[in-house]
Amino acid sequence: MTQPLSSALVLFSGGQDSATCLAWALARFERVETIGFDYGQRHAIELACRPKVLAAIRQLSPVWAARLGEDHMIDATVLKSLGATAMTHEVEISMTAAGLPNTFVPGRNLLFFTLAGALAVRRGIGVLVGGMCETDYSGYPDCRADTLKAQEETLRLGLDADIRIGAPLMYLDKAATWQLAQDLGGDALVAMIGEETHTCYLGERGARHAWGYGCGTCPACELRANGWQRWQAGKGNAS
Ligand code: ZN
Repeated sequence: MTQPLSSALVLFSGGQDSATCLAWALARFERVETIGFDYGQRHAIELACRPKVLAAIRQLSPVWAARLGEDHMIDATVLKSLGATAMTHEVEISMTAAGLPNTFVPGRNLLFFTLAGALAVRRGIGVLVGGMCETDYSGYPDCRADTLKAQEETLRLGLDADIRIGAPLMYLDKAATWQLAQDLGGDALVAMIGEETHTCYLGERGARHAWGYGCGTCPACELRANGWQRWQAGKGNAS
């Protein structure tokens, strides 16, 4: 089954990476829809950011507003029932015996892409877009390019559909991700991502830093803040 490659379904969590991916898709595809997952995450704050980011991104560009279609929220809470992780249960962030941080939710991205692929077939969409990155990531095996390549092939075979997976952040570090936002939408997009997206693992949204809201010390905040600082330093006006 041929799927139109002029349309994309963006895995959109409400964080910095997926918001940047959404802008990337809006710059390239005639029709863009979004999919989000309630997987029983401890902090609902990221999901609460989603509609705000979608509304804000429509304000940034009439072209993007015209291209951005439906948002789909999917119940994936079955993931939480499989076992405890620091993302879904009240446990401290730590390393597991397997050498992975316990923020890793086993099977999460595999399930997300399976559900996204199934929806894409029904929606007549050919390209799935995700913010996975193996450059300065936390060692998650389901963020590797090889995993996505294998899953793309699985979806093509299992759905008998010409589904592609796009991962524009795969080889970027966080500084380059900020630069990509700048290239796609200028200062307005960077400001919107700083103000409206949420990345912090602890769900902290009290203090506004230059790079956005967050506790500043969890692994997700450290990545985001360090990336911002390296990006600012690279522009010659470190803050
Ligand atoms: Zn944090």
